[in-house]
Amino acid sequence: MLDEQQALEALKLFNEKIQANKAYLSELDTPIGDGDHGANMARGMSETMKAVENGSPSTLSSLFKTVAMTLMSKVGGASGPLYGSAFLAMSKAAQSSSDLSVLIEAGLEAIKKRGKATSGEKTMVDIWSAFLADLQAGTASSEHLQQVVEASKDILATKGRASYLGERSLGHIDPGTQSSAYLFESFLEVQ
Ligand code: ADP
Ligand code: MG
Repeated sequence: MLDEQQALEALKLFNEKIQANKAYLSELDTPIGDGDHGANMARGMSETMKAVENGSPSTLSSLFKTVAMTLMSKVGGASGPLYGSAFLAMSKAAQSSSDLSVLIEAGLEAIKKRGKATSGEKTMVDIWSAFLADLQAGTASSEHLQQVVEASKDILATKGRASYLGERSLGHIDPGTQSSAYLFESFLEVQ
C-alpha cells in the first residue's frame, strides 16, 4: 500500500537520484540516442517538485496528476509523454486503489499504449513489466532492478531512437530503463 505521504517522499527521492545521475543518464543516452535523457528527466523532475510544492496536492490521485501534467508539458523528449501517461494512469488508478502493484500495472499499460511497445524491445516497458511481476510475486528488490538494468544491454532495440542503430544498440544500457529503476528504488525505499 502506498499513501500520499509515502508517494511524496518517493518523488523526493526520485528527484534526488535523477539530479545526482543527470550526467550518467545522458551518458547512457549518447551511444544509442541523442544524449538528452538526463537533462530531460532533471528538468522534468525539478519542475515537478516545484509544481507539487505550489499546488500541495492532498490525495495520492491529485499528487500523481500534478506529476503527469508537469512531465507532459515540461519534457521535450519521448520520456516526457511516456512517464506523463504513466503517472496520469496511476492517478486514475489511485482513485480506487493504493496498492503499488495496481498503480504500476496501470502505468505500464499506459506506457505500452503510448509508445506502442511491448516487452523485449529495449525500452522502459521491460523494467516496468519486471517490477510489476516482482511486486505481484512479493519479490521486489533493488538488486533485481539493477539486474534488469544490466540485462537491457543484451536486448536489441526495436522501439525508440535506439532502434535506428539496429545491432549497434547491443552492449548498451537503455537510459529509460535506468531512470525507471531510480523511480522504483524510490518506491521500495518508502515501503
Ligand atoms: P528521446 O528518445 O526522445 O530523446 P529520452 O532520451 O528522454 O527521449 O528517452 C529515451 C527513453 O525513452 C529510452 O531509453 C526508452 O526507455 C524510452 N522510450 C523511447 N521510445 C519508447 C517507446 N516507444 N516505448 C516505450 N519507451 C520508449
Ligand atoms: Mg534522448
